[in-house]
Amino acid sequence: MPTARTPQGAGPDAWDTYLAQVQGVAPLLPKSLQPYIETLVRPKHSLAVDVPIRLDDGGYAHFEGYRVQHNLSRGPGKGGLRYHPDVTLREVQALAAWMTVKNAVVGLPYGGAKGGVRVDPGRISVAELERLTRRYASEIGAMIGPDRDIPAPDVGTNEQVMAWIMDTYSMNQGRTVLGVVTGKPVAMGGTLGRSDATGRGVVAIAQRAAQKAGFDLAGARVAIQGFGNVGEAAARLFGQRGAKIVAVQDHTGSVHAGGGIDPAALRRHKRESGRLEGAPGCAPLGAEEFWQVPCEIVVPAALEGQLGEARARRLACRMVVEGANGPTTPAADAVLAERGITVVPDVLANAGGVTASYFEWVQDFSSYFWREEDVNVNLERIMGEAFRAVWDLAAERRIALRIAAYLIGCSRVLEAHATRGLYP
Ligand code: NAD
Repeated sequence: MPTARTPQGAGPDAWDTYLAQVQGVAPLLPKSLQPYIETLVRPKHSLAVDVPIRLDDGGYAHFEGYRVQHNLSRGPGKGGLRYHPDVTLREVQALAAWMTVKNAVVGLPYGGAKGGVRVDPGRISVAELERLTRRYASEIGAMIGPDRDIPAPDVGTNEQVMAWIMDTYSMNQGRTVLGVVTGKPVAMGGTLGRSDATGRGVVAIAQRAAQKAGFDLAGARVAIQGFGNVGEAAARLFGQRGAKIVAVQDHTGSVHAGGGIDPAALRRHKRESGRLEGAPGCAPLGAEEFWQVPCEIVVPAALEGQLGEARARRLACRMVVEGANGPTTPAADAVLAERGITVVPDVLANAGGVTASYFEWVQDFSSYFWREEDVNVNLERIMGEAFRAVWDLAAERRIALRIAAYLIGCSRVLEAHATRGLYP
């Protein structure tokens, strides 16, 4: 099994975390599925590609890109594309594996996949970003397709990047293929409701978890790390359901307001100034102080590995709802369990994005587009059903929600694997 660490070198990397999570659930899986468990720790296809581009100044630069299909037993690969300077193959493997489990937990007919390019998208021009995206899409072109593997946005990518991938793939195929990516602009095969869907799912799950824990989301205090696609939408939708956002952190800094932060004002300030600090009505906060703000719910919605053991010991909340993928390390999970802080795992809590992506894919195939209300109602239904199944199993077996979610997800993947049989 691979052992290399992330470039930062601190703590377990994302793949280590995933392996520990699978090891945690393995003994609880039905005996009939035990022989197949190895399939969960061996990504099915991993592709690393060189992405050379022409720079605006006439020079050239090379970037490394990846696409990993972790498991395809339940359907085509599905998972986002990340542009970030720290992307590694091991990180993409972990992100793809989490998609395998997540898609199975919410019952979507997909396997798990993920892509990444090691680039800081803020440091290259829009024209360079377009050339990088089109070259990357061509390099992985044989691997993707509406019935093979369907990318979507993740950290550092957006609907414009998805539009370029769709166009590049379509040009190479000689026809327009809308369903090759999701998270596209609504004007060209995207779905209404996709951009808020991950945050909406986080809030829908948090509301149900709060109810079970015996408190109301209305009036609850929430701290959110990450103010991008997931964090910003979650902040706004928490606000709409009466919760109070008391702290927000992103890569530029942290802000605090005991009386509540107005997400719309914070977003405006961030857009105008490029940073969170200085937003009206907000006090600046130290990076570590963020993790000690008294509140009911903490939502990590930035990157993996952010909630380690030391921060877990300092949290002053009742519940962690994982908007990000893999934010909590296994050691932190153990501390939170010991402290009685509920962790609602990523493979359930942030599944709203891929669920809306599934709706987009279905709409692209049928060429019949839904009202936003239909997207949101179906999203709440699927998330609600998945939440109930995970919560009830955790209560029945007296296990953590993450273990329960893995038990459901991994069993579904391995059942599909066992039923299909081994080729040849
Ligand atoms: P994004 O690029 O839109 O936003 C990322 C946010 O994280 C930014 O606000 C950034 O400032 C912040 N951040 C980065 N490094 C940080 C650090 N060291 N400390 C504090 N904040 C930091 O990305 P996103 O799409 O919102 O994704 C966030 C997380 O949610 C990722 O883990 C992603 O895999 C996961 N996720 C995203 C989606 C989706 O639909 N976009 C779906 C499911 C899960």
